[in-house]
Amino acid sequence: MRCSVLLAIVGLLAFGCGSKEAGKDDGGKLRVVSTVGMIADAVKEVGGEEVESIGLMGPGIDPHLYRATAGDVEKLESADVIFYGGLELEGRMTDIFVKMAGRGTPTHAVSERVPGAELREPPEFHGKFDPHIWFDVLLWKHAVESIRDGLAKARPASTAKIGERADAYLKKLDDLHRYVQEQVARVPKEQRILITAHDAFGYFGKRYGFEVIGIQGTSTATEAGAGDLRRIADLITQKRVKAIFVESSVPPATIEALQKAVQSRGWNVAIGGELFSDAMGQAGTPEGTYIGMVRHNVDTIVGALL
Ligand SMILES: [Zn+2]
Repeated sequence: MRCSVLLAIVGLLAFGCGSKEAGKDDGGKLRVVSTVGMIADAVKEVGGEEVESIGLMGPGIDPHLYRATAGDVEKLESADVIFYGGLELEGRMTDIFVKMAGRGTPTHAVSERVPGAELREPPEFHGKFDPHIWFDVLLWKHAVESIRDGLAKARPASTAKIGERADAYLKKLDDLHRYVQEQVARVPKEQRILITAHDAFGYFGKRYGFEVIGIQGTSTATEAGAGDLRRIADLITQKRVKAIFVESSVPPATIEALQKAVQSRGWNVAIGGELFSDAMGQAGTPEGTYIGMVRHNVDTIVGALL
């Protein structure tokens, strides 16, 4: 509830005060500042030579806990357009987005287009929506459409070019969605149990048919309790789950503790590899793009659970 009110305020401010930069069309590149890498990557794909895409959060960075640095604030203040995930993904930056929208900088939450019925709101999230929409490739297409429209609004003369690039990227995402479906289909249904450090993969599970268990809640700001660990260790042992997974943006201690707890119950569960959950891999590597990150995740999951 609180979240949607805040988003509404941001939306109103962005709408009401968007005249400062909107329509700016001086031929130079649009300075577009985004929070997580997945958004900055989509801005680059859709904006092409029209934009300078600046991502604030690099590899290994946890958006739930991230606080803007003085340098980030400078970047945000000089931005022509700002994109963020929303749904409290960047829980400690909400005030800054409100402030930037109030200054007249077009500021968009890329989750705003996702149909309400598609949003996950499990009881353990205490009335909040799950912000990790990029794990369902079809939902992420809505984010790309938000980015397309946000860029076109800021650079109306390039609307056609932006639209063409967006179409091409959306087609690639359709291919990616099919790839994930094909890979997941290789894993027998009863083995489709995905256990990770924090509850980021719910949309992945919903779309691609996995039971997903995160040891921490939907945000890494909540700690896992000893009771949770015991319960999950029992389940892994009982169901003979082959592998559990660490995440690139969450310290591995919890997953390692879980592995030990399972071992003490007489079952060896492997650590199946590192998944990119809330941050992409290093720039210049395949995992440094959204598409590469999703392919890496599904390959790692399928490889370890088969
Ligand atoms: Zn997360």
